[in-house]
Amino acid sequence: MIDEQQIRKIVESVVESVTAPSGGITESVVPADIPPAPTTPTFAITPSAGIRGDNGVFDRMEDAIAAAKRAFIDFKKFSIRDRERLIGILRMVLKDHAEEFSRMVYEETGMGDYKDKILKHKNCAKNTPGTDYLVSRSWSGEKGVCLEEFAPYGVIGAITPSTHPTPTMINNMIIMLAGGNTVVFNAHPGAKKITAYGLQVCHRAVVAGGFPENLFTCVKNPTIETANTLFNHPDVPLLSITGGPGVVKAAMSTHKKVIAAGPGNPPVLVDETADLDKAAEDIIKGAAFDNNILCIAEKEVFVVESVFDKFMMAMERAGAVKLDEINFKLLAEKAFISNEKGGHILNRELVGRSATHLADLVKVNVPEGTRLLFAETDKDNIFVREEQMMPILPVVRVKDFNEGVKFSYEAERGYGHTALIHSRDMNRITEFARVMNTSIVVSNGYSTQGDGPDDGEAYMAFTIATPTGEGITSPRNFCRVRRLAVAGSLRFV
Ligand code: NAD
Repeated sequence: MIDEQQIRKIVESVVESVTAPSGGITESVVPADIPPAPTTPTFAITPSAGIRGDNGVFDRMEDAIAAAKRAFIDFKKFSIRDRERLIGILRMVLKDHAEEFSRMVYEETGMGDYKDKILKHKNCAKNTPGTDYLVSRSWSGEKGVCLEEFAPYGVIGAITPSTHPTPTMINNMIIMLAGGNTVVFNAHPGAKKITAYGLQVCHRAVVAGGFPENLFTCVKNPTIETANTLFNHPDVPLLSITGGPGVVKAAMSTHKKVIAAGPGNPPVLVDETADLDKAAEDIIKGAAFDNNILCIAEKEVFVVESVFDKFMMAMERAGAVKLDEINFKLLAEKAFISNEKGGHILNRELVGRSATHLADLVKVNVPEGTRLLFAETDKDNIFVREEQMMPILPVVRVKDFNEGVKFSYEAERGYGHTALIHSRDMNRITEFARVMNTSIVVSNGYSTQGDGPDDGEAYMAFTIATPTGEGITSPRNFCRVRRLAVAGSLRFV
């Protein structure tokens, strides 16, 4: 067995030989307090990743799939203990590269908050579940013995979002490889450099640790076409989709087994029994984290009339900045662009930008370090209805708890994703959870407390399978359950 020290040495030595890609966006969006990238600014992937690939990165999707298929056969020779050692290497890479990957994600996508990204990477390294989630079951009785075990599917096709490219990719690697699968990634084109770079760093580390090449692969230039090749390839029996409604719909129309982690629009209900100061602090903490690009993050708030004004004051005391009606409307015009069909589409340029940036756009002066804007509005406002992924929170007055539940349900749009409530009434919390019917309900806390032990309880995942119902995914979801029935034998008492 290799111990932790040895794994660390291997990881450090291979990682020294990999260089980072240069940033994809202009320096002006990188805050001054972010330290410079520790590596030289040249992209390591060779001009042609070719048929053999370059540390898991391929030019063609067909070659990436073929390589992962070969690797799946080789991987069968490795024991579950070996898989756990491999996962240890991935955890180490992610932990040691949390700052570097975070900076690169920030530079390439322009979204979110650098320091929050470091926390996301470290949380993922520590708290993604491994092979311990694959405990087999057995039964014995007068008719014999029965054993159920978790078996791999084979090559999994995974789509990752632009909002958390490296944490989702490495979280997926851990939970899929734990079950003995291999995986081919098709990243968001807007995060392709960091995805390929992060995959290469992991690849070098696991190969140096004695594992086969191409246990995880990706294409250098992911597109809708490469995604479609992955979706329809006969050697890919299972798809794992993390993204918005378009990609979930596209994957589900393939008639393959799909584990789909779709969009969310999490409502928060605050009733008159709630601790308003704590509710305001929690809501700011959740909604401001990584500039609100998390699918589980608080996106709109419904507050019972009798405590509405007090709640708004509590939000200001806790550091959020209130926009007046005119500025809120101005911001909506910038955040949602009219289309030719008379509707609106989200302005992707503003997704994940900071609260101070949004305030600048509407020429509102806010104190330095402001993390969240908020404003009073009605339930039909576009910021309430759409998943905006910006640190601006619409707050709606409701008559009473029942109206709050009704509006929360409508705002969630049937995504079945996440909902939050602040109340001291246990019956109301239960009723809210029952009606919302979401994969995650958080009461009296902030959204990240619903996904993993750094903030809350249980394990965490970056793929929260809402439309297909697996919820916060674990290695079990990426395994087939196989049964061996031994009739009339092996029972010895
Ligand atoms: P996106 O939908 O724009 O892209 C997600 C991925 O799908 C990307 O890799 C993209 O290239 C691909 N894609 C998009 N349309 C496609 C199509 N028609 N065919 C094939 N591939 C396609 O989303 P994003 O902006 O990258 O990520 C944010 C979205 O993802 C939000 O809606 C968020 O709620 C959701 N999300 C959900 C979870 C979850 O666990 N449920 C986690 C993270 C993000």
